[in-house]
Amino acid sequence: MDLLIQGGRVVDPSQNLDDFLDLRIQKGKIVELGRHLKPEKSTILPAQGAIVSPGFVDVHVHFRDPGFTHKETLETGAQAAARGGYTSVICMANTQPVMNTPKDLKHFYHQAKTLPIHLYTVAALSEDLKGEKLNDLEALAESGAVAFSDDGIPFKNQELFQEALKRSSALGKIISLHEEDPQMIDCPGLDQGPLAASLGIQGAPTKSEDSYVKRDCALAASYQAPIDIQHLSSADSADIIAHYKAEGAPIFCEITPHHFSLNRDAVESYGSLAKMNPPLRSQDHVDRLKAHIAKGTIDFIATDHAPHTKEEKNRPLLKAPSGIIGLETALSLALRELVFQNYIDYPRLISLLSTRACQVFHLPGGNLQLGSPGDVTVFDPQSTWLYESSLSKSANSPFLGQELPGKVLYTLCRGKIIYQA
Ligand SMILES: [Zn+2]
Repeated sequence: MDLLIQGGRVVDPSQNLDDFLDLRIQKGKIVELGRHLKPEKSTILPAQGAIVSPGFVDVHVHFRDPGFTHKETLETGAQAAARGGYTSVICMANTQPVMNTPKDLKHFYHQAKTLPIHLYTVAALSEDLKGEKLNDLEALAESGAVAFSDDGIPFKNQELFQEALKRSSALGKIISLHEEDPQMIDCPGLDQGPLAASLGIQGAPTKSEDSYVKRDCALAASYQAPIDIQHLSSADSADIIAHYKAEGAPIFCEITPHHFSLNRDAVESYGSLAKMNPPLRSQDHVDRLKAHIAKGTIDFIATDHAPHTKEEKNRPLLKAPSGIIGLETALSLALRELVFQNYIDYPRLISLLSTRACQVFHLPGGNLQLGSPGDVTVFDPQSTWLYESSLSKSANSPFLGQELPGKVLYTLCRGKIIYQA
């Protein structure tokens, strides 16, 4: 199918492009960009008033497949992603079985082939995420692991982690890290503060994140081995990262939409729908993190899309699992909290949602250059929509039922329309 996206504001940070242009896609690729392109035989997608962006890329999702397909499958996850404007996602390794071996990866990529978006997976850094023995990183890289991560489980063993850094950097791969020192946490998912105290727990202090971020930034800098700090929640950790980045260390970091949209008081309104690891923090941390986004410390908005069933999230707060879904609402929250509050402009938004991820994780896409894949998201920042229900198999989002700004009009992947509002 030939498509002509007409009259939109085309934003592509990879080529410093921000202009009103038409964009033509043929045979799955971007073939022409220019003013007033002739329709020829192309199907026209009107985009007046809308932003035309490279398809969004999420470096951190949990599609629960295999093992927990009652929460999400690769298929339902991909549908939710397409609705949110995503054309590529990277799945985490805490499936059942864990993504330990080339065989696990082969099975994943075989299933992924038939789905509407590009699905990638990390491989588990250590066997069964236990942090005791490293997996065969070389064979896993060969089999399509785009990165290594024990996400969900902080990596305790420093000596083993140093070996991991040496091996992964030799392979040109990045390690993604869940940074919480478990020894400082009695109950994960809730910040240390008045609410935790009223429940008789200490919770998960920001210092538990800072202590691992400090350790791992120092190691990454000394080995010059690339790392990605996941779901940043402590602004003090962002200060540490900014310091190391300024020195030129290969350190990258993610923030989730919920960590810049909600503070820890949300637990009182949303209960377990505001419980996540690391937890939501005080408004002071939220404001300082937003300033770090504006400053450029943070590389990626990553959703940590984490489906859980109603039954699980209905458990008492201290027993309910951590995490929320996020693919369908990431754009809206980023617009509302960051762009409309003048922390960032559109090119920076697109960089956070797409371009930077492809550059750092070495993925195709993330740009609108001629010859690039026809992965394009068209959204209208000014129109609002009601988040009535989710295409994910789970519905654990505090934003369900809310009116949100920024509507995805079309998501195109490999030059095909995979979602249309
Ligand atoms: Zn995590």
